[in-house]
Amino acid sequence: MARIGFIGVGNMGGPMAKNLIKAGNEVHAFDLSKVLLDKVVAAGAVAAESATDAVRGADVVVTMLPAGKHVRAVYEGEVLGAVGAGTLLIDCSTIDVATARDVAGQAAAKGLSMVDAPVSGGVGGAEAGTLTFMVGGPDEDFAKANPYLEVMGRTIVHCGGPGNGQAAKICNNMMLGIQMVSVAEGFVLAEKLGLDPQKLFDVSSTASAQCWSLTTYCPVPGPVPTSPANRDYQPGFTAAMMLKDLALSQDAAKGFDADTAMGQHAEKLYRAFVDGDNGETDFSGIIKMIRGG
Ligand code: NAD
Repeated sequence: MARIGFIGVGNMGGPMAKNLIKAGNEVHAFDLSKVLLDKVVAAGAVAAESATDAVRGADVVVTMLPAGKHVRAVYEGEVLGAVGAGTLLIDCSTIDVATARDVAGQAAAKGLSMVDAPVSGGVGGAEAGTLTFMVGGPDEDFAKANPYLEVMGRTIVHCGGPGNGQAAKICNNMMLGIQMVSVAEGFVLAEKLGLDPQKLFDVSSTASAQCWSLTTYCPVPGPVPTSPANRDYQPGFTAAMMLKDLALSQDAAKGFDADTAMGQHAEKLYRAFVDGDNGETDFSGIIKMIRGG
């Protein structure tokens, strides 16, 4: 059993913390939201007064925060100065590669172990403990983190050195965003051509356009009964989150001189969709904008 300081118990962090508690760990949790903190305390966590309070005396620190600025502020302001030597730091938030590498460098300079371990799998995966973790960090830090990640996830891939977990996450989600737009455009064109969407699905789901956006998150109701299209595009994975990840990918592309014209266009489309008051709509709902409705 380890003592774990867990910071950020929102949609994802809440169920992840609960799985660590179920596995027998002593979790000291902190969140700016008292309501969310109370929920994990009801599941067996100890309520901390602050992030510093949560991590003091911890063997392991897990953070699940909204964005890079929160991760930097929490680690620089509250965590790095409060933890003891030998503490393992695991940041599961989705953030920019540069911040992940900078914070990991500061941790290493203090002799601390740290991995970036962003996730895929959504709230359902967090609850079921079936998340996919993409991990960046030195081999020995990955080996230390693995037993804790196995409690919260099913697939754990060590992607290389610090920041490489974030790199894998934003490349994956850039591909996902582009693919969803392509699938939505295919179905809209099919509608205009008088082709039954089920027939297009029957062909494409077994042909060369097959992809997750088609076979799991099909943006029209019918062919995949569990896809958000069947519940008026309730998320799922919100358009706002897709836009965040596409923006991260485009910042990285600019910074590292990569030509990602399709990613750039997908970001533009998702920005227009989110600006049209659709931030909390599932990202597959972009088909409504493409259809012109
Ligand atoms: P969320 O907004 O529900 O949770 C974040 C929590 O962090 C909030 O409860 C907030 O109060 C807390 N917080 C912010 N600043 C804090 C601080 N200084 N100290 C303590 N707590 C603080 O977000 P989420 O959906 O749980 O997502 C968390 C991360 O996981 C994000 O980076 C997101 O991109 C990523 N992610 C989310 C999903 C998903 O489906 N929700 C899937 C994959 C990855």
